[in-house]
Amino acid sequence: MKTYKYKIGKQSNTIRLGNLLDDMWQVHAYFHKWQRQRYKDGLPYANYNAMSAHLTDLKQTTHPHWNALPSQAIQAELERIDNAYQRFFNKRGGKPHIKPRHKFKSITLKQTGYKLTNNRITLTFRKWDKGKWRFDKVPYTFHKHRQWHGTLKRITIKRDSCGDYWLYITTTYTDFKPLPTTGESVGADFGMKDAYLTLSTGEKIQHPQPLKASLNQLRTLNKAVRRKVKGSNNWWRAVRELARFYRKVANQRKDWHWKLATDLCRRFDTIATETLNLDGMKRLWGRKVSDLAFYQFVEILKYKCQKHKREFFQVGQWTATSKPCSDCGHHNENLSLSDRQWTCPECGSHHDRDVNAAINILRAACGPSVEQM
Ligand SMILES: [Zn+2]
Repeated sequence: MKTYKYKIGKQSNTIRLGNLLDDMWQVHAYFHKWQRQRYKDGLPYANYNAMSAHLTDLKQTTHPHWNALPSQAIQAELERIDNAYQRFFNKRGGKPHIKPRHKFKSITLKQTGYKLTNNRITLTFRKWDKGKWRFDKVPYTFHKHRQWHGTLKRITIKRDSCGDYWLYITTTYTDFKPLPTTGESVGADFGMKDAYLTLSTGEKIQHPQPLKASLNQLRTLNKAVRRKVKGSNNWWRAVRELARFYRKVANQRKDWHWKLATDLCRRFDTIATETLNLDGMKRLWGRKVSDLAFYQFVEILKYKCQKHKREFFQVGQWTATSKPCSDCGHHNENLSLSDRQWTCPECGSHHDRDVNAAINILRAACGPSVEQM
């Protein structure tokens, strides 16, 4: 599966996308409340088919305006609700909750309900016209900066926090060209202090930390929001500017992550990292962890490795990686977090803490660990 993202341009009918999302949120909220009420009344859970039947009733009686929405979008929403409840019943997810309206951001259409032609997507609404519901096709143009490949699976229309709309096209394309093999393997140790990523080759990679780099700008924008009267036009403008700033920072971070993942995949056949303890890190480091976004990077790296047929390993959280000496396997129990460099009392070799850990990670991933040798 591959997803392509396109920006839908601002046009006279953009407002209908916003209205569509708001209406779809009503469907979302209605059916969640309905399920809760049924549960309170001691009725059995209503699955997708039961919800569908109820929807047909509603459209004919109390909610005729829902007829105007693309019916495939409603179906997809009912499926989402059903999936959420099924996950909950199978103990694979938490209790489904009703999203607040501003957090309801996307609708999905599967095979029908839209038509894609070149750089234009036409959504099928319906309208009440001369005593009858008739199809009302609304075209939207998007910036098609690249061609999608593969069979269309579904499309998603999403509103971001800046009020821009995006079209996501998901296809079944998997025909990626694997990169040429290099015969090299690498262990990578994530860090907060000296470097973002330390490779077993001794290389240290620094993170640009885009949020930290533009903290001054963030302060200025926050101040601008605080100075305005809440709810006024100027306040809204400042809020939107702040949202755009956050989006830019997130894009810068993501761009750097993709480039780093590509670079690693080009150079190495096998990449090993450790499982991250994100909750522990967040407690210790706060905002810095969010700016470094380890989780996002690991997800991107996983995807890249799969795409280019690279081997990706994650060493368990409890595998000892920093204390054993990578030359002789001696466990240095006296090593504390502040020791960045140390000398092995057993074999006398001098270690950089992170490089040593990276070598141990690679060993643990590729075979017998240091202790077993
Ligand atoms: Zn040693």
